[in-house]
Amino acid sequence: MDNDALIKENLSRVQERIAACAGKAGRHAKDITLVAVTKTVDAARINAAVACGLHHLGENRVQEYLEKKDEIPGNIFWHLIGQMQTNKVKYIIGGIALLQSLDRITLAREINRQCGIKGTKLDALIEINIAREESKAGIDIDALDSFIEQLAAYEHINIRGLMCIAPFTPDKALVRNCFSRLNREFERLKRFETDRLSMQVLSMGMSQDFEEAIYEGSNMIRIGSAIFGGRPIK
Ligand SMILES: *Cc1c(COP(=O)(O)O)cnc(C)c1O
Repeated sequence: MDNDALIKENLSRVQERIAACAGKAGRHAKDITLVAVTKTVDAARINAAVACGLHHLGENRVQEYLEKKDEIPGNIFWHLIGQMQTNKVKYIIGGIALLQSLDRITLAREINRQCGIKGTKLDALIEINIAREESKAGIDIDALDSFIEQLAAYEHINIRGLMCIAPFTPDKALVRNCFSRLNREFERLKRFETDRLSMQVLSMGMSQDFEEAIYEGSNMIRIGSAIFGGRPIK
């Protein structure tokens, strides 16, 4: 099978699984946004996915996003899903649709400054280090309220939801517990809605755990390898 056919087949298998577990959870597949994670994937293969109807694409490095964005025509919503270096912020403002990895105040300050210069705003998700893993970015769930309070000073940032990465473990119960805890925060924060803080997006679930995430209320899943195949090991 050629690359394009393989991507198409992988994608339809993923979509079938999304529909099946959405159905079991009493939800609709159309309410779950699929972000195709294109890190390490070349433009030709990304365009094959876009041709299948995907238009939310996620990169975890600014450099890769910049290298690829002009090679992917069409109405694409780019998501930045990896930890951002503050000095790269200026390259993404005005270009990306959603920053999913807002994880510190120094980053918010620089985003706000750059948005001010460009006269624009940025939609962002707060990344939570849900299992308190040292290897992962994101703020502690217990610090979420004070983080949100501090973000109030940054008028060019709109908080649109929460994001997490579950631990890599075959323990599905543990993974579901992580997703369930994030969903509880998401629902709780809906009560504090303002123009600049609204809980619309709950981004959780990757190739190995998107079904658990859907059962626990995720409305945005980020899928790389299940669509494009395994990535080269760095
Ligand atoms: C790589 C990545 C994904 C996708 O991972 P897969 O296991 O390939 O689906 C999702 N979210 C983030 C933040 C990532 O870095």
